[in-house]
Amino acid sequence: MLENKNPQRTSISQLGEFGLIEHLTKNFEIRQPSTLKGIGDDAAVIDFKDKKAVVSTDLLIEGIHFDLAYMPLKHLGYKAVVVNLSDICAMNAKPTQITVSIAISNRFPLEAVEELYAGIALAANEYKVDVIGGDTTSSQTGLFISITALGEADESEIVYRNGAKANDLLVVSGDLGAAYMGLQVLEREKQVFLVNPQSQPDLDAYTYLIERQLKPEARTDVRTLLHALEIKPTSMIDVSDGLSSEILHLCKQSGVGCNLFEEKLPIDPQFINTCEEFNIDATTVAINGGEDYELLFTIGLDDFDKIKANPNFTVIGHMVDEKEGAHLITRANTKIALKARGWNALEE
Ligand SMILES: [Mg+2]
Repeated sequence: MLENKNPQRTSISQLGEFGLIEHLTKNFEIRQPSTLKGIGDDAAVIDFKDKKAVVSTDLLIEGIHFDLAYMPLKHLGYKAVVVNLSDICAMNAKPTQITVSIAISNRFPLEAVEELYAGIALAANEYKVDVIGGDTTSSQTGLFISITALGEADESEIVYRNGAKANDLLVVSGDLGAAYMGLQVLEREKQVFLVNPQSQPDLDAYTYLIERQLKPEARTDVRTLLHALEIKPTSMIDVSDGLSSEILHLCKQSGVGCNLFEEKLPIDPQFINTCEEFNIDATTVAINGGEDYELLFTIGLDDFDKIKANPNFTVIGHMVDEKEGAHLITRANTKIALKARGWNALEE
């Protein structure tokens, strides 16, 4: 349904590996003062001066992490960058550089790789990160993309997963669950398309959900927002695998428990409507659906007044003693143990 109709197919072998790298990277500019040397030597050179370096890496595999039937290559490139920048944001650091490595089978022409790189370039531009290196190689089947993101932060700014204390408030940016429902909509349309390739999907009712799935954004703004509010979180993580799984990471590493309140979960009206249409429980998706790339963090009780009226953030619970465990408090006031079920639970 989203196949590239471009008939031009230039074989990559015409360029050779070095020609390909040069062709794909010739327009990348260097913006960060910390990048002393980017692409073009045996290694890049970075100088963070008195800042600490934060590094995160991710590997995405066709058929496991993405499906090119509904994931346009440009979006894939963009998303591959964003998911890595999100991890840098989750340390309360500023993303500055990325490296990009891809392995591609010969079913991809040069034009396809150019699309992928157009998405990478768009994200690099959007988030002002420098592309400073990487590798390009061939694969027997399918597409692999691995991105490493670097970031910088003052040592005192960095937020780990292990600093939450009992009575701290649990806060999340943005809203939850939409990316998962976007994927459900795209999967459904793919099945329709397989039966009837002539069908034109009407996706108007799902634009927000699909955008959250195909073009997520990294919350680089949260660091700035919190700084302006004079709040330093006590612990932080990004929501990639699903809220409950991330809450349990904070709990385990901080040695605390948690009460999460169902009625506080920030969810979008389009998300609620689509859950009803698919006959899926909205709370289940909001706490287990992944790929929201929002930031989940804890703050001291004293900081509540600074954050309570801010539309970017929602207080969804509070931390408790470890022995009390981690629970969801439902609207009916029943207590359900949180489980790290992630995506699998929704597919059972
Ligand atoms: Mg993460």
